[in-house]
Amino acid sequence: MNLDDIITHLGENRDQYFYSIAPPIIQTSNFAFQSIEELRKAFANELTHHIYTRGNNPTVAILRKKLAALEHTDDALVVGSGAAAVSASIMSMVKTGDHIICVQKPYSWTYKLISKLLFRFGVEYTFVDGRHITEIESAIRPNTKLLYLESPNTLTFEIQDLKACAALGKKHNITTVIDNSHASPIFQNPADFGIDIIIHSATKYINGHSDVVAGVICSSHEIIKIIFESELMTLGLTISPHDAALIIRGLRTLDLRVRRSDLSGRIIADWLYNHPKIEKVYFPLHPLFEQYELASSQMSGCGGLITFKLKAETKDQVLKFVSSIKRFLMAVSWGGYESLMMPSIAFHDIRGIPDSPIHWSMIRLYIGLETPEYLIEDLSLALDQVKPD
Ligand SMILES: *Cc1c(COP(=O)(O)O)cnc(C)c1O
Repeated sequence: MNLDDIITHLGENRDQYFYSIAPPIIQTSNFAFQSIEELRKAFANELTHHIYTRGNNPTVAILRKKLAALEHTDDALVVGSGAAAVSASIMSMVKTGDHIICVQKPYSWTYKLISKLLFRFGVEYTFVDGRHITEIESAIRPNTKLLYLESPNTLTFEIQDLKACAALGKKHNITTVIDNSHASPIFQNPADFGIDIIIHSATKYINGHSDVVAGVICSSHEIIKIIFESELMTLGLTISPHDAALIIRGLRTLDLRVRRSDLSGRIIADWLYNHPKIEKVYFPLHPLFEQYELASSQMSGCGGLITFKLKAETKDQVLKFVSSIKRFLMAVSWGGYESLMMPSIAFHDIRGIPDSPIHWSMIRLYIGLETPEYLIEDLSLALDQVKPD
């Protein structure tokens, strides 16, 4: 289905609500039934009927339809955070004694879920670099049930070969899951490569206005039903109808926003590559990125996350740069209007993943929707402040 149809028409039953253009926020916890027959019918399939808002709600249902179509899957669930989407997807596929293969540098709380929380329940794991399919294949054990990908991740952007990973999953009966938050459904559709479950932190590009925390799970009818009936309903991962309405509004401009962020990202990445005070730049769709070919064969764009390593001998030089930045806001997360900066010096010794230490001279930028010239001016002035010792 074409993007314009998905955004303007799909799921919007305007004849049921006065032909209003914007969808209504059905702010209710529960729904009444006209007859016992109707109630029985609803109980038989809670995923598609409105009984109780922890399960399904008409405003949320509009969003589910659009997101499933955007990711080329049968159905989607929208939950209260990206972390809820990650944990529900992983937990739905494993039990005590099973084994998970996961890429080495996933989102930090995904790492914690696998290495700490699920490990406590007897789920085994192996973290792999993920850039070579042979390494992933050799990590497979007889009890491997899940292959968890993040391509690219959101700090150094390692890429996995999605087609090869999906084929490996099919061959060994392993469910494949990808966190696709970074590429967004506009630039990469993992279902087209055969990946089973696609997750998003909708907090990032999908909502896109730094005002909602939410997550998305896209998959087949069978898998969505499993996750709905177990994790979503029992753990209570619900999103509020009001937040769902905000995300529907965000979706109207998703395509425009990610393209703008991508275009500015490329301009600024290129500028950083050529700056004498920058030691290394990470940006998946720059021709100098080491996995550029694989990245560009799977993604048509990549958005505005850029990481760079400052040429600095001392931490003071990094602190000088960071405190000279005026226009980027210093904050976690990304995907909204505002450009952001996250210096690893703030957390490298606190939240660093032990087997892949993050260097203190690394700084991640999120290029938002301001003009690239405005942002470059800020970076340029701050880099001028970094004096050699
Ligand atoms: C932010 C993020 C998450 C977690 O999402 P929340 O909405 O913050 O719970 C998961 N994966 C990636 C790649 C993220 O950037």
